[in-house]
Amino acid sequence: MTLSLIDATMAVKSAPFGNNLQLMANLNSRQRAQAFNQYSILDTIRMHKEISRIQIAEITGQSTASVTNITADLIKKNLIYEKDPKEAATPGRRRVELAINPDATYAAGIKISSSRISCAVTDMQANVRSSVVIPVQFSKRPLEYIADIIEDAVHHCAANAGLAVDKFFGVGIGVPGLMKNESGVYTWNPLYKTGDTTFSDLITERLSLKTYIDNDSNALTLSHLWYGKGVHTKNFLVITIEEGIGMGIVIDKKLYRGPNRVASEFGHMVVSPGGELCRCGKRGCIEAYTNETAILSAAEKSLRSGNWCNDSGGELSLDLLIELARAGNKPLQSIFAQAGNILGLGIAALIQLFHPEKIIFSGDGVKSGELLFEPMKRSIEEHTNSDLIKPVQTIVEKWKDSDWARGAATIALKEFYKYPFNS
Ligand SMILES: [Zn+2]
Repeated sequence: MTLSLIDATMAVKSAPFGNNLQLMANLNSRQRAQAFNQYSILDTIRMHKEISRIQIAEITGQSTASVTNITADLIKKNLIYEKDPKEAATPGRRRVELAINPDATYAAGIKISSSRISCAVTDMQANVRSSVVIPVQFSKRPLEYIADIIEDAVHHCAANAGLAVDKFFGVGIGVPGLMKNESGVYTWNPLYKTGDTTFSDLITERLSLKTYIDNDSNALTLSHLWYGKGVHTKNFLVITIEEGIGMGIVIDKKLYRGPNRVASEFGHMVVSPGGELCRCGKRGCIEAYTNETAILSAAEKSLRSGNWCNDSGGELSLDLLIELARAGNKPLQSIFAQAGNILGLGIAALIQLFHPEKIIFSGDGVKSGELLFEPMKRSIEEHTNSDLIKPVQTIVEKWKDSDWARGAATIALKEFYKYPFNS
């Protein structure tokens, strides 16, 4: 029996892992080498978006004959296709370029936060085909209720995009907090008060799809590494600014998870011992100064002290504070500046530790723009040894709510590409 990587990958989708590991263990060394070569070629095409057979041979070290055979097989399986030379990124190129077939498979991505669930369905290149955001008070609802909403959201998006859910490879779910394993068992999570729960089982029961759960910032970081601003970058950080301040770390083109898949909780790094109380119970965390709640509470305190007047008459919101600060409200500008300064202090420490080539800022909080990021940049300059550390490129993303869900879908897509013998 010949079992290719793709056959093995498909088998993993439809049967328990244990059986497939047994199946893969039965392969002889030639079959394993063939599966590895397929994996390596598919992964190279994904990484380069479009690439010629000769370039693939140069990068993977395989012979051109082997590349020709394997790519012919991948084309037959509809996993890749030959681009029309007229569509090539570099016009006039004679070589035929190969690309991943976006319709080879699809994935659903779900991002869960305290007040809403975002859902997106993506193709194999992580292009969002349809998305929806559903407001839900997550902590007040039982998990079964949440699972029902996710089921409906995936069916809704699939129908909207004209796709059948049974053609999907899997579901990726991004959640805030610390993850213990990919079944969704938490060590600590701001949304869950109690201990162990297998959330992934509830989703798999409803959608008949394998479900993968990860920390939301890790999921977003992975989507940058595979499809976004980090594709050609060896070492970078992604800082996510929402109610929680999260972080993903890429070292040597790999997502760093640390022991037990624990995500990086940059927001709970203490920068001011004994300072403001944080929702995690400690005092002086970065989050206690920089998230939306912290900025709103500082603005309210400043308002009560008579430092400024709310002439708009509207309820205080982050959007209103941004508008007023941009219109010249100095007390509000200094609240954003303090948040930026604290954020910069934490990031300066990260730069000293990791020496990243770039730092990507994502999340709803990036809408504070220059009010937050200019003071942050000054703080970084002030607190890093510029003579020792190379300048770091900072990228502030133009944020779309579906980006979180796209990141979550990448968790599932990664499993599709995964080298099967690693499991
Ligand atoms: Zn904290």
